[in-house]
Amino acid sequence: MEGRETPTRPSRTTPSSPRVTPALVKRPRFQTLARFWEGQDVLARWTDGLLYLGIIKKVDSAQETCLVRFEDNSQFSVLWKDIFPPAVPGKEQLCCVCNSQSCTSDNKLVHCGKCKHAYHQECHVPSVPSDTDSPGSSWMCRQCVFAVATKRGGALKKGPYARSMLHMKLSLPYQLKPLEWDPLHLTNKQQCYCYCGGPGEWNMKMLQCCRCLQWFHEACTQCLSKPLLYGDRFYVFECSVCTRGPENAWRLPLAWVDVSHLVLYHLSICCKKKYFDFEREILSFVNENWESLLLGDLTDTPRSERYSNLLHALTAQKDRFISGKEIKKKKCLFGLQSRVPPPAPQSTVTELRLQETDVRSPAPCVREDGGPETPPTQNKDAKHSAKDAEGEAEAAESCYTGSYTKSTQS
Ligand SMILES: [Zn+2]
Ligand SMILES: [Zn+2]
Ligand SMILES: [Zn+2]
Ligand SMILES: [Zn+2]
Repeated sequence: MEGRETPTRPSRTTPSSPRVTPALVKRPRFQTLARFWEGQDVLARWTDGLLYLGIIKKVDSAQETCLVRFEDNSQFSVLWKDIFPPAVPGKEQLCCVCNSQSCTSDNKLVHCGKCKHAYHQECHVPSVPSDTDSPGSSWMCRQCVFAVATKRGGALKKGPYARSMLHMKLSLPYQLKPLEWDPLHLTNKQQCYCYCGGPGEWNMKMLQCCRCLQWFHEACTQCLSKPLLYGDRFYVFECSVCTRGPENAWRLPLAWVDVSHLVLYHLSICCKKKYFDFEREILSFVNENWESLLLGDLTDTPRSERYSNLLHALTAQKDRFISGKEIKKKKCLFGLQSRVPPPAPQSTVTELRLQETDVRSPAPCVREDGGPETPPTQNKDAKHSAKDAEGEAEAAESCYTGSYTKSTQS
């Protein structure tokens, strides 16, 4: 298999099993041939956008899925489009997209230096420039670039892999238009999201592009200064396809009720329980992750006032929160009335979309690390641009992890 270190699989953010899916991804006929078989080692893309090692237990041709057993012994049905087998020795002369080996002078077969799969220049997305397969050059396919560059908390921002990834991200490996969405544009029937075309869950650390409305994995984006919380929709985000360059992300302002709701939702997903102790779990999570929450105008709030503001929000908003007192438990416990993320700041996004034809430079001013220099002028609510140092993002990641462990143990 490929030399990617495989992260431990987050078995708890389990998606609903994939539904029957027409393969929109650009690798059709090959799929129906003997591409998958029982006992085969594969990489499978999970709903977080990351690839995990697994072994095929069963092939279902009617549903176009395989039952895959992962390293943590969990078994899930995975769509063919999300399964990547290694190159088969002896078949390197066949294009892994169209399964043909016929070439023309301007559409030759090129080989990925990492996975050894062959691609026609025109079968790969984006198409491969002609000078690529010359001796000495080591070209890497889209799958391999993503396998290296995607990370929890956000993809690589600097270096050659980050640049290759950005280049790949300018085009999608599937068609956006035929996707069939639910009325709220949160999920599509094809289970096809992001630059990677993988499965996804909108409330599990994904960002929605305010222009094309597609959802993108945190792990595949290169613009975030802090890792996302589950259900965090307080961003305005523009994808690389829409900007034709680096992504943009701007933090939207949060009120205390939003902070309370977001933290309770995040904790309830992490810890899989409903009620949390105000001081020991909610407030301590907020304090520990204070910088990473990117709270804009609230950032200067002293610790003593955070206590009263959060408590007030939790007790006042009875339509959103339920206290332990109401269910004859300790009154210092709080939970969500229903386990849903905080409502999206709709007006702002709509406003931005309506004004998207406004005068603005086609490629907004963006720094090398992907963070915007200035928020878009037409979006008056986007006060806090996400442009902090990369090191802070890493610190925040460990911070989240620490808190998660802590909360789980309590
Ligand atoms: Zn992705
Ligand atoms: Zn081909
Ligand atoms: Zn490759
Ligand atoms: Zn977009």
